[in-house]
Amino acid sequence: MTNIKLFKGDIPADLSFDESVAVDCEMMGLDLHRDRLCLVQLGDGKGNAYLVQIIPGKEYPNLKKLMTDEKVLKIFHYARMDVAKILNDLGVMVHPVYCTKIASKLCRTYTSFHGLKNVCYDLLGSTLSKEQQTSDWGAKELSDEQMQYAATDVLYLHALKNKLDELLKREGRYELAQECFNFLGTRAKLDLLSFDEPDIFAHH
Ligand code: MG
Repeated sequence: MTNIKLFKGDIPADLSFDESVAVDCEMMGLDLHRDRLCLVQLGDGKGNAYLVQIIPGKEYPNLKKLMTDEKVLKIFHYARMDVAKILNDLGVMVHPVYCTKIASKLCRTYTSFHGLKNVCYDLLGSTLSKEQQTSDWGAKELSDEQMQYAATDVLYLHALKNKLDELLKREGRYELAQECFNFLGTRAKLDLLSFDEPDIFAHH
């Protein structure tokens, strides 16, 4: 059971999270420069999801404060994209960050499937739908289906992190994962400068 709350603008100043918050973003498309940020979803790991509509021209001081709060870990699935998008559109570097996709790639080397749906099914036995993934997130009024989908994307990240941390420790890659998470801000800056293709870490 998920409780969903929608904000058409910034989150209230008194909305607080414990030591971590699950975060996901929905955009108009996959092009960092062309496609605007439409929605930021926040999950508290206790079944509550907060959907923050990003309306051009509005200010988001409380959301920015949360994204840069040193005491609150931001848990993403594929943080690279969302951290770059938030840096580009909101002007803040998200920190500290945990990425369940990077964690999965480092410890679940028995598979090449690291999408949220696959990782959730494998580690938690949860089935999640990706049907609304390509819908119009820039719409003024989001449909119930869109809100449900958006909330689901932040529902399992705390539980996934717990499972992934166990696996990372078991495989001796926990420290390496932290180093990768610490590098995500630099990766996001490189992506925004188009140093992603060809990748500057590649030989050619
Ligand atoms: Mg999503």
